[in-house]
Formats: sequence, structure tokens, C-alpha cells
Amino acid sequence: MTDRIIGAEVIVTSPGRNYVTLKLQTADGLVGYGDATVNGRELAVASYLRDHINPLLVGIDPAQIEDTWQYLYRGAYWRRGPITMAAISAVDLAVWDIKGKAAGMPVYQLLGGAVRDRILAYTHASAWELPELLDTVDARRQDGFRAVRAQSGVPGLETVYGVHRDAHDYEPASRGTAPVVESWDTDAYLRHAPSVLTAVREHVGPELALLHDAHHRLTPQQAARLGKELEPADLFWLEDVTPAENQDALRLVRQHTTTPLAIGEVFNTIYDCKDLITEQLIDFIRVAAAHAGGISHLRKIFALADVYQVRAAPHGPSDVSPVSFGASVHLGLSTHNFAIQEYMGYDPLAHEVFPHSWSFSDGYLHPGEAPGLGVEVDEQLAAKFPYEPAYLPVARTLDGAMTDW
Ligand SMILES: [Mg+2]
Repeated sequence: MTDRIIGAEVIVTSPGRNYVTLKLQTADGLVGYGDATVNGRELAVASYLRDHINPLLVGIDPAQIEDTWQYLYRGAYWRRGPITMAAISAVDLAVWDIKGKAAGMPVYQLLGGAVRDRILAYTHASAWELPELLDTVDARRQDGFRAVRAQSGVPGLETVYGVHRDAHDYEPASRGTAPVVESWDTDAYLRHAPSVLTAVREHVGPELALLHDAHHRLTPQQAARLGKELEPADLFWLEDVTPAENQDALRLVRQHTTTPLAIGEVFNTIYDCKDLITEQLIDFIRVAAAHAGGISHLRKIFALADVYQVRAAPHGPSDVSPVSFGASVHLGLSTHNFAIQEYMGYDPLAHEVFPHSWSFSDGYLHPGEAPGLGVEVDEQLAAKFPYEPAYLPVARTLDGAMTDW
């Protein structure tokens, strides 16, 4: 029996980048944390929590996880959407954290226990030119990774998603009061990308899991062509080939290629992906614990996916905080159809502000054995890094028109 919630507050901190964290406290002194970070729109979720959700949480029984979720989801009336669902996600993670701490168990034990010893992670390798990209992939393998997402520059373009011209670490969000404007030309990308990924495959041999992200930019025909041309590269997956709104596009893509497809990082609920799953139009579902309703809702999505042999592979760059990253690792250890976890790593300051029991070694992640999610917040340190305005980039085509970033 857990005591009721007596305090709910929002912590906004920027140790390298902005994170929004919900902190719940119970009468018997337990503390639970949840992640509510929406990259580039952080303060909207902070307000949604502070002004509309936190007053409702005081007095509730945090042990009633599912009822709390339903209260906030069905009780919103104006429900779904990235801001609402990130707020619900944060509450859900925080009450799972409290339940684990009350039980003295890591959350993966509450989810049914481990179904694997550790979970496979993939990271990013990017460079503008191919020789540097091959060096970066090699460096990631030396770090222990057995799965790498490779992105390169495109001749004729100044800027490309997933790549910095002069650095081998890519961080899309930039601090400032307006987004950076990137350029884009799909034809140039399609002429170049297959040769790059085929060269990476030839360089690394058959065993490394190789991934690539097209970032929502192709028409159905272009996506089908790219998938077909990438078959010799034997990708683990091709990600976000078409904009998330046009799900019928995947039917055409599927008719033309056996390259596995991964989609879902911008989805908020099971309703965004149920058709993709039940019609088997994707192979991997990429919903994240911070954005799609927390552990409670991800479990439902992953259970539906399991029926259709679609595997779970949550979004996990540095814009999900170490809190929801930890939640994802607990899910990974306890979910049978969990395939792989994206892991970009964090700024060293983020590791200090969010001390955590989850760990990476030899290409794999483990949530650790600390009770709850196993991620705490050093609030004194967090207070030293106040929010800084930051945005994800936008993109324009070469004639100046806005396009999908
Ligand atoms: Mg992605």
C-alpha cells in the first residue's frame, strides 16, 4: 500500500540540452520521476503539467497506475497530440517509478521479469564524406556497438539531416531563438545514398547491423526505389521513409522492396500505428516512452505489435532524458518482441544531473537493479542549468520552399 501523492512539480533543466522532468512525492517519502521532454517545445509541456495536470495529482493513489492513465487520457477530452501525451507519459513513468520503489524492485521485475540478459543498442555514425564515415563507423564498433546508423553528406547540398560538415557527432537541436534552416534536395539524396550505404556494408562485412534514416522526406515512389536500391546493403532497417501522415504510402513501398522498415518516433498513441501494425506495413515500431503515453501505453502497442511480428525499437536520441531512456531499457529487458534500442549517448552533464542505474557495455544495455526506474535527479545541479531556448532545424528545398525536416 502506497501513500497518496502530496507533491507534484516540474523541473526544467538544460545540462547540455533542455529536459522537462516531473517529480511526484508521496506522503511516506517516496519520489518518482517522469520525462516530459518534447524537443523544441519544452515549455508547452511544462505548462500543461504545472497548470493543468499537477493540481489533479495531489491526493491520488500512485499505486493505481492504469486508472491514473485513463483519468488523464479520457479526462482531457481534447486528448492525444504530442504535448498532452508527453505530459501523460511523465505521470505514468513517475508512478511506475514509485511503485517499483515501494516494492523494492526494478520496474522490469514488475513488468514480468527479464526475457533476455541484455538489450541490443544501436548508435549513430555520421560524416560528410565517405572515408570519414567509414572511420566513424569503425570508431563506433571499437566502442563496442554491434549496430550503427550511418548518415552521410550529399553532393550539392550545404546541410543534410543527421550530419554536421565538420563534426562526427550530430546533435540536431541548436540553442537560439529561431530554428537553423537546412537545405534539401531529394533527387540529389537518392542519387547518392545507395552507393554510400553499399560502400559501408562492403567495408564492415556482413555481421554489423546497419541502419539508415530517411527522415520523413520521400514520396511513396521514391521510398520504394530507395528500399529496392538499398537491398544489397542488407540494412537492419530503413527508417521514416515517408511522412508519418501518409501511411498508405507504405503499401507501395512494401510491394517493391524487402528492406525492413521502421517508423513511429513521432507517434503519440496506438491509434497512430494500429493500421501499420495490423497490416504489417512496418517491421519495427519506434514509439518512445516519453512521447507515447509512458510504460503503460507502450506495453499495449508492443503487445499488439507482437501479434503481427512487428518488433519494438524505441526512439532514443539525447532528446529523451535519461529518465525515459531508463524506462525504455526496463521495457526492453521484459518485452519479448523488443528488438533494439537507439542510444546516442548523453552530454556528461546530463549523466551528472540524472544519475542512473542503467548501463551500456559491449554493445548492450541493462537497466540495473535499483528499485523503480533507477534514475534520480540531482536537483541542486539541475538548477545550475536553466532552460535555454532551442529548436530543431527546419528545411527548405533548393527553390526556397518549406519541406519536411
Ligand atoms: Mg529517427
